[in-house]
Amino acid sequence: ERRELAKLKDLSCETLDGKAFEVCANIGTVKDVEGADRHGAEGVGLYRTEFLFMDRTHMPTEEEQFEAYRAVAEAVNGNPVIIRTLDIGGDKELPYLDLPQELNPFLGWRAIRMCFDKPEILNTQLRAIFRASAFGKLKIMFPMVISVEEARRLKAMVGAVKAELSGEGVSFDDNVEVGIMVETPAAVMIADLLIEEVDFFSIGTNDLTQYVLAVDRGNEMIADLYDPMAPAVLRSIKRVIDCSHKAGKWTGMCGEMAGDERAALILAGFGLDEFSMSATSIPKVKKVLREQRYTDLQGLADQVLSQLTTEDVQATLDAFIG
Ligand code: PEP
Ligand code: MG
Repeated sequence: ERRELAKLKDLSCETLDGKAFEVCANIGTVKDVEGADRHGAEGVGLYRTEFLFMDRTHMPTEEEQFEAYRAVAEAVNGNPVIIRTLDIGGDKELPYLDLPQELNPFLGWRAIRMCFDKPEILNTQLRAIFRASAFGKLKIMFPMVISVEEARRLKAMVGAVKAELSGEGVSFDDNVEVGIMVETPAAVMIADLLIEEVDFFSIGTNDLTQYVLAVDRGNEMIADLYDPMAPAVLRSIKRVIDCSHKAGKWTGMCGEMAGDERAALILAGFGLDEFSMSATSIPKVKKVLREQRYTDLQGLADQVLSQLTTEDVQATLDAFIG
């Protein structure tokens, strides 16, 4: 079986009737690129930059970040890399930042919220990313967006950084795509508005599941309630994909769900454009999608959306897989 999966490495993730999906890897450092490549990733759908900030005793400088991002941009041989800006807070701490104790950290001062209050952090990171964009195909995405105001504010910061670098005569890619993660119910509800502000969406189902269902993703006592196959989550995902397509744009997914081969059948049927996952999951997702017809997956997706319970969603999948 391992040999069969190895053979998949250089094959595209394409259904029997020719619908292709982009399969990418989630990475935390440049060291993960080798594994992504070995498993047949067509790019990086989520580069979690937190590790660069967590593995040390001080904030990484613009130069240190530039070197890290450039290393990744160069390591992927021309494939696209989506860099996520700092997503700290929630369950992730920075020893040197002295983050406050909060009653509800997942509803608190995390991700772009913290960056808006400390704009020099995001500014430095954006400068480093744009400088690195001259060395590969980089895209940027922002975590935890809940409003059009936030999307506009982030875009303004991007615009300011580009103007600053131009003024300094620093070269960068002027066409870097800018997207947002959809991981809050707010973003789902206004996906039609948000997509007008950005180039793409990437659905973060780890957080989206937690926030849509109001189920703490790390709490063992309610782990059985944490299920991305719940109809409420599935409808959210479908809505986001549809809104992006209506606007002529694309949606990826970088939460764990994208690497689940059962879920992937449904997501493909929804028309998800890009799947980003742990590198080791790529071959099996490719394999299951290559065995299907897109038209059948669309039928499955419709059937799944008409189910009333998570149990019936799973039963519908079981019947489809046979
Ligand atoms: C997500 O929320 O699905 C996601 C990919 O981000 P993280 O797991 O890093 O919060
Ligand atoms: Mg998240």
